[in-house]
Amino acid sequence: MEADGDIITTPRGFHCTLCKVNLPNLPSLEQHVKGRKHNTLSTVRITRKTQEQHSVFVSGLKPNISQSDLAEYFQQYGQVSDVIMDKDKGVYAIVQFTETDSVQATLSCVEHLMRGLKLRVKPRDKKDFKLVPKKKDNQNLQQAFDRLKPQLCQLVSVDAQMQYVVERFQLGENEKKARGLLVQLLQEVFVEFFPDSQIQPFGSSVNTFGVHSCDLDLFLDLENTKVFQAHAKSTTEQAREGTSDDGRSEDSILSDIDLSTASPAEVLDLVAAILRRCVPSVHKVHVVSSARLPVVKFHHRELNLQGDITINNRLAVRNTRFLQLCSGVEDRLRPLAYTIRHWAKQKQLAGNPSGAGSLLNNYALTLLIVFYLQNCDPPVLRTVDQLKDMACEEEECVIEGWDCTFPSQPIAVPPSRNKQDLCTLLFGFFSFYAKFDFASSVISVRKGRALPITDFLSQNKDEEAMQEEKPTKTQLHGPKLGPLNLLDPFELSHNVAGNLNERSHRSFQRECQEADKYCRSLQYQRKSSKGKSWGLVRLFAPHGEVPKAKTEQLTISIPFKSASLPEVLRNQLHAAGDGFRLMWFQKVCCAVEEVFQRVLGCHFAPSAVEDSAFDASADMETTSSSLNTSINDSCDSVESHNEPSPVGRAAVGAKRQLSSGSDASVSPQGKKPRLAKRGRPEFPHWICVQKHMVWAGRRKVRRELIKDTDSRPEGSCMELESQVTAHIIEKEPELKEPLEFKVQSEMIGGTESTKALLKLEPTSDAAGVFHDFFHFLEAFLPKMVETLLEKEH
Ligand code: ATP
Ligand code: MG
Repeated sequence: MEADGDIITTPRGFHCTLCKVNLPNLPSLEQHVKGRKHNTLSTVRITRKTQEQHSVFVSGLKPNISQSDLAEYFQQYGQVSDVIMDKDKGVYAIVQFTETDSVQATLSCVEHLMRGLKLRVKPRDKKDFKLVPKKKDNQNLQQAFDRLKPQLCQLVSVDAQMQYVVERFQLGENEKKARGLLVQLLQEVFVEFFPDSQIQPFGSSVNTFGVHSCDLDLFLDLENTKVFQAHAKSTTEQAREGTSDDGRSEDSILSDIDLSTASPAEVLDLVAAILRRCVPSVHKVHVVSSARLPVVKFHHRELNLQGDITINNRLAVRNTRFLQLCSGVEDRLRPLAYTIRHWAKQKQLAGNPSGAGSLLNNYALTLLIVFYLQNCDPPVLRTVDQLKDMACEEEECVIEGWDCTFPSQPIAVPPSRNKQDLCTLLFGFFSFYAKFDFASSVISVRKGRALPITDFLSQNKDEEAMQEEKPTKTQLHGPKLGPLNLLDPFELSHNVAGNLNERSHRSFQRECQEADKYCRSLQYQRKSSKGKSWGLVRLFAPHGEVPKAKTEQLTISIPFKSASLPEVLRNQLHAAGDGFRLMWFQKVCCAVEEVFQRVLGCHFAPSAVEDSAFDASADMETTSSSLNTSINDSCDSVESHNEPSPVGRAAVGAKRQLSSGSDASVSPQGKKPRLAKRGRPEFPHWICVQKHMVWAGRRKVRRELIKDTDSRPEGSCMELESQVTAHIIEKEPELKEPLEFKVQSEMIGGTESTKALLKLEPTSDAAGVFHDFFHFLEAFLPKMVETLLEKEH
């Protein structure tokens, strides 16, 4: 990677000069270099360079000179592959040859006379390839914000503002009609090629949450076509003649493909070909077969509309019906959904423009709103299970084995007893997710409650949990767990937010916290008499970089990532029930100690700092030695304590339960927690001494040690990393003054996502190296802890 001339090292990590991004550490650099953006830009750069080397710059033209005139003239020097003209001004052109020799031949000719016109021919300027920044997302968001602000400010209440948002963004009647006509046209075309097929719109065009520019999601239902094809085949076999009995020619596109055996990609290739050839105004047609559900994407020029066609997507049509039902039953859902969708867009939390990405999609976001409304007191919306019970027999519906039953008409569902206004409900949404414990919950809209993640950690989930969650189909594999686990209402093995990464999830929760804070202020609820921004306006301010507090910068967070834990540990945590946080935290603390001591060669010093917030008796030795014992203790204790706790409440191991505060802060010492003077519980801390710059030059040493036999990434092997440290200690001089720093641990959980926090603070840093060490640890420590947790099992 060092050979990659686009990467430079900076004091804060790395910088890619091609893509103009900063990368804090090696793993993120490696990921970036393998990523799509970097590779696309590299390819574009190569193409540009090749074009540059194969072309000449021609000026002195007149407007009557055409591309073919130029091609004809320059043909005498070699084959011309392209001529690009400055059409507006008609003054210059770029003539591109197939061979570079032709460029030389052209340039060596002293005078170029074409139809009496003297042309000036120059080599192309060698321009450095630069990424031309697109109009920044932020600029667009700012414009959207500026347009909306005056209207919102003058309304009288937040409720009125929310209603206004719906009116402003919802699909108009004409837009709906135009979409309807396109669907009709597509239906007519497809039925020609796929007899008896049906095209059905789903998604936001029809689920009552559509906005002006939303895409048109279509499901091409080929079930009847398959029947038709099977029937035609058997008739043909009997008669061995050209036409089938209903007169439709079998000599169609269908004779090229067997729908019962063709792969989705093959079918979609055909769909794409039909779109390209037979549907006017459709362009930019391409198949994305790598998506979870392969799709054909197209664009309709006149309607300026992005369309997606999928097959095998009956469940999406059904979940669209479900959302329609919810908004039919509850009038408050649409204003809430439009407002929250717009807020999420402005904060860059939701909406993946190309379909793929690590943000929430609007469907997942809407389900989060539904779930919140199910959890209001009294509930605003029913759970999917309750809706199922309200359906009559004819409404029973099972798709791909999943029970998708609910009433077809809103009238079948009694209205809610909850009478809160929109302003309160919106505030409630932010508060709900601001403190929601995502890490230890799986959100079930079906049940209307969060299920403990421990039920999903073990591969062999107990049968009861399975049956409870899945009435019809046998669960073959669980949902893909991630930082946000949100089960589809029907396809219960599918996490609809499975694409989210840690960062997107963190941003979502942080923005909820910010919004929650704002909603508590008077500016949210009361119109400003001085014409200042109030109510929704401030919520819609575009996302900006939230500056990190100084102390936050020196905190290393180790999130509880259930998906990356080894199976044995997942099973243990599963068995620990409520005590799983405690057990996990203790294991993390042990691993942290091991990393500092054994991997990085730090020495632990007895606590030199008397911290009034912590029990003075909790010195390093007690902490260190008691940690291991307490793990065993807590294992013992959790085995006898298997009851899941209500989600969102403090939940810790039975014997070592913490009584202070509402969050699940625990003492890993396993002692009955004592509150220190400032009322905080005790957590282990370490005073570490580091005499060598063990963070500098590790990559080089690592490479030398493994001698190219294996390219293990940083932090993936404890023995190797310890050797690297030993090597540096042996070869490099000691720091003039050792670095001494304090590491304070803390566990967050219960009302927030479970994570271990390590706050680092220099206590003696004469050499001024603490910040470098900290930046190294930021990436190294979580990775190494993950490795150690794996190794232990
Ligand atoms: P918009 O297009 O305005 O962003 P949308 O609701 O149409 O909103 P899409 O991402 O286009 O969202 O998805 C279209 C439909 O596909 C959804 O309404 C839903 O029915 C289904 N869908 C989307 N994502 C998922 C998912 N992760 N799991 C299950 N179904 C999904
Ligand atoms: Mg859509």
